[in-house]
Amino acid sequence: MAKRRIAVIGVGKIAQDQHLPVIDNSDDFELAATVSTRGLSHDGKPAFRTPAELYAAMPDVSLVSICTPPGIRHQYVREALDAGKDVMMEKPPTTTISELDDLIAHAKRLDRVLYQTWHSQFNPAVDRTKTILAEQGVVSARIDWRESVRKWHPGQDWVWEPGGFGVCDPGINALSIFTKVMPFPAFVERAKLTFPANRQTPVDVEIDFKSGQLHKPKLSAGFNWLEESGEIWTIRFETGTGDVILLEGGGRSLTVNGEKVLSHGDSEYAAMYDHFAGLLDRHESEVDAAPLRLMSDVFLMGARVNGPDFEW
Ligand code: NAP
Repeated sequence: MAKRRIAVIGVGKIAQDQHLPVIDNSDDFELAATVSTRGLSHDGKPAFRTPAELYAAMPDVSLVSICTPPGIRHQYVREALDAGKDVMMEKPPTTTISELDDLIAHAKRLDRVLYQTWHSQFNPAVDRTKTILAEQGVVSARIDWRESVRKWHPGQDWVWEPGGFGVCDPGINALSIFTKVMPFPAFVERAKLTFPANRQTPVDVEIDFKSGQLHKPKLSAGFNWLEESGEIWTIRFETGTGDVILLEGGGRSLTVNGEKVLSHGDSEYAAMYDHFAGLLDRHESEVDAAPLRLMSDVFLMGARVNGPDFEW
């Protein structure tokens, strides 16, 4: 079967690290073009400065993958849907829930496929954790998500602007795992957001969750963006039968009661594109709004603390 031709919009860090190499190696997709405000192309393929130019010049390209920061996503996704395209979009989907609701409704109205990705969900160790927790229940969960903003978002000032999420940009990856694997919903009870005094988004966040469960599970999270010792992307669960489940490496390693039961490399984006191909085959949209909703509640419930200035 001929490969599906897809255009990548926004040729920044994640497009270059993941989307373009994964498309290059895909059995289902081939790159048709890029859209880049800086005019960046890939592998000699046509590059356009705006989505409108792409849609006018290559109307036969019916798929786009939108890899920009979330602030521009609503506009770009709407424009793509209006142009008759099926759309895959990076996380976090949008900066507000109202925008995401609008995109879901718009895709439905136009009968287009809209796929909201959450790359951290695409790990076998995450799926195994979900199965264990469904069987055993949860009495406690602790999320620790610490990394270096200088390593993962070098020089990207948008992360510090309103709508840029700050440390909640990686933190929402943890919440995308958390909301996927938890056997019951958790709600934000309180949050403390520490902002660099000279920036508009938090660098450190502590969250306590509550639930409607009678056994009152203890659920909390901590995100930090100044960790220079390496990534700590860990969720630790205690189950209702007393097992300790440690999900590490952003969802790539699972340890149960001190024994490693699953450990694998990074194939998140390849799995996501495989999944997108299946959605296209079935002409089916998929949008999981739960991580964005929970993160929005962190901002709604968050107490602000000013910390030291941040400079790159
Ligand atoms: P980035 O490199 O700063 O930006 C991506 C690209 O989007 C930019 O290089 C630019 O591409 C385009 N762009 C930026 N602002 C724009 C605007 N206002 N209008 C139009 N185009 C604009 O960011 P990134 O790290 O790739 O992150 C992009 C998304 O991927 C974010 O939502 C992030 O959460 C997600 N993500 C990032 C990582 C990571 O490791 N950084 C990992 C997973 C997911 P052109 O110059 O080509 O136009």
